[in-house]
Amino acid sequence: MSNKTILLYAEVTKENYLHTVLFELANKAHELAKSLDNATIAALLITKPGMLNEFKEAFENNGFDKVYIAEHEKFSNYSTELYSKAALDIIKEIQPEIILIGATTQGRDLAPRISSSLHTGLTADCIELEINEKGMLAATRPTFGGKLMATILCKNKPQMATVRPKVFKPLNEILKKNTEYILKTPDLSNLKTNVELIKFTKNLTSCINELDSAEIIVAGGKGMKNEEGFRLLKEFANTIGAAVGASRGAVDMGLAAHEMQIGQTGKTVTPKLYIACGISGAIQHIVGMDGSDKVIAINSDKNAPIFENSDYGIVGDAFEILPQLTKMLIK
Ligand SMILES: Cc1cc2nc3c(=O)[nH]c(=O)nc-3n(C[C@H](O)[C@H](O)[C@H](O)COP(=O)(O)OP(=O)(O)OC[C@H]3O[C@@H](n4cnc5c(N)ncnc54)[C@H](O)[C@@H]3O)c2cc1C
Repeated sequence: MSNKTILLYAEVTKENYLHTVLFELANKAHELAKSLDNATIAALLITKPGMLNEFKEAFENNGFDKVYIAEHEKFSNYSTELYSKAALDIIKEIQPEIILIGATTQGRDLAPRISSSLHTGLTADCIELEINEKGMLAATRPTFGGKLMATILCKNKPQMATVRPKVFKPLNEILKKNTEYILKTPDLSNLKTNVELIKFTKNLTSCINELDSAEIIVAGGKGMKNEEGFRLLKEFANTIGAAVGASRGAVDMGLAAHEMQIGQTGKTVTPKLYIACGISGAIQHIVGMDGSDKVIAINSDKNAPIFENSDYGIVGDAFEILPQLTKMLIK
């Protein structure tokens, strides 16, 4: 094993789970580690006391060599100032080669704070990570509105990147390791914080996360035209037990909430089946759904680009096709 470390941020969710993006990053980190003389794969866990036992099995089954834990009563809720202080203390000590963080709300807040404090670069929202011939992290992300893919190298160490949930797949089998746990007690005594959490209020619309775990998604675009179009789409989705998603075109028309948007500036989804209705297939949409196992497109234009990214295509009017499919399936 080399003396290089790939450090992954283990985010603890509000419900006290490890965010699943950690396991997706772990799978990719195992791949990267091979090109870095079997680098150590470590996790950074910042949490209130008493949580580690809950997570041990997950770390050990996902092949983590080490877990660095910063525990404190003050870590019951996420705080940029407190968490970045704890993270920086550990990072400065272990000097990782690479740091990977999930591009979740928390990760998007924490990562730039860490990178700017360390005067290092951060490539955000990556869709691919590789080790190049010089042993550097080559992080690829969409740029120019998704029209180009840019592969970015970071000159300084640690090399940092964030990756959105669902971009990588988790390990498909258990990779058992005798994980070493290293407890660090953060010294927060001299830390002056400017922000205090008074109350946490759930925004119910932002909690619509059924798209994240849905096995089937029916997504509507501008071609669904109006509320009646989306009613037909939802009726069909209900019949087959699917979650409903949308293109930005549909969101901009007010036919769907932003939380339902799939694509570069929306969610990344990886269902078993993705049914795109009245969606043209712009690259910014495709990057959010091309990890789907199978794609069916319904579009009235036989030349619509979506068909190039589909396994099956139906050329026709979705206003006629969807009710027919619903009727066939209800029978
Ligand atoms: C920086 C940036 C970020 C972006 N992020 C996203 C993103 O996250 N997600 C996203 O989706 N887009 C995103 N976009 C927008 C993207 O470029 C497209 O404009 C958008 O995806 C188009 O939405 P659409 O396919 O619904 O609409 P359109 O491109 O207008 O396509 C509508 C389709 O419906 C078909 N149609 C019309 N009537 C019917 C009918 N009766 N039955 C069947 N088919 C019909 C048409 O043939 C057409 O193909 C982004 C753009 C930029 C610049």
